[in-house]
Amino acid sequence: MKEIKIGTALSKAPGKVDGYLKTGELPDGQDMRIPVVILRGETEGPVLWVHGCVHGNEQCGTYIIHETLRSIAPKDLTGTIVALPALNITAFHKMQRMSPFEGYNGGDLNRNFPGNATGTLTQQMAYAIYNELKQHATYLIDFHTALTADVAWALFANVPGDVGKKGEGIARAFGYRSTLPTPPDTLIGSAMMTAANDGIPGFIIEAGGKGPAFTREVVLDAAERLRNVLRHLGMLQGKVTDYGKQWHFSNFAWVHSTQGGLFQRSVRCGDSVKAGDVIGQYWDLHGKPKGHAHAPESGIVLAIHPGPVMSTGETLIHIGLNPREV
Ligand SMILES: [Zn+2]
Repeated sequence: MKEIKIGTALSKAPGKVDGYLKTGELPDGQDMRIPVVILRGETEGPVLWVHGCVHGNEQCGTYIIHETLRSIAPKDLTGTIVALPALNITAFHKMQRMSPFEGYNGGDLNRNFPGNATGTLTQQMAYAIYNELKQHATYLIDFHTALTADVAWALFANVPGDVGKKGEGIARAFGYRSTLPTPPDTLIGSAMMTAANDGIPGFIIEAGGKGPAFTREVVLDAAERLRNVLRHLGMLQGKVTDYGKQWHFSNFAWVHSTQGGLFQRSVRCGDSVKAGDVIGQYWDLHGKPKGHAHAPESGIVLAIHPGPVMSTGETLIHIGLNPREV
């Protein structure tokens, strides 16, 4: 069997191995290293690369990856799953989106692929990871979360040709109803779009909310959908579940709050809204109503601020535009 080596994780035979990939150095000179798991099937085949916690406070994906890996025996797997469950490890330690050691603007790891070997910390991390991804991955699935436990939507890199078509196939097999065929000029620097431009179909899953805002049901449901993707790709045996029609969006609108105060949302993820609809209520700390928040565009709610407290500039709502049932 061909050797697959990612950092210290070395796979030469069917089964599961783990190790670490160095992505930089910490202020004390120790290695900054991230966990790697390689699950190798008995039959050679494609390599599905899955990673989570690109943003350090989005741990739902880490759980989904572990849940899936625990459920698959090497004898049932064709090909290999390479899993990096916690990519931005120093952000993970602090339970925040970006690394506390990133001293420059633009520390969002999902805007810095393919990275730069001599750039900022986040660019060097991206470089170390992408170098391996590009070498090994046949397909990429990148796990994220948004703000609340009811988040369930996905994006595939809608680049021209076969790569975009394969991305759509993965999106249909995963089966979240809200799906964005991501235009090539969108999310530049994400692992998904960067991989797609290198011929690797890319897919992002937004499941659950940041920190503890997700449930066991979300994890189990997403793990089953991920196994369905593996069946679709021929990596697991069994009938592929048809999750039915999807809403495909033309793009998304992401709006920040221009006011602060106590905030209570009045819509849920998956709801349909029209431009101008009330989506939440602000209150001041004397208890007086401070006005409503309104939908800036018509579409499907992908994410909304959970409250209970809002500051200026926080993400208020994320809307999928022009839903088309396909
Ligand atoms: Zn994220």
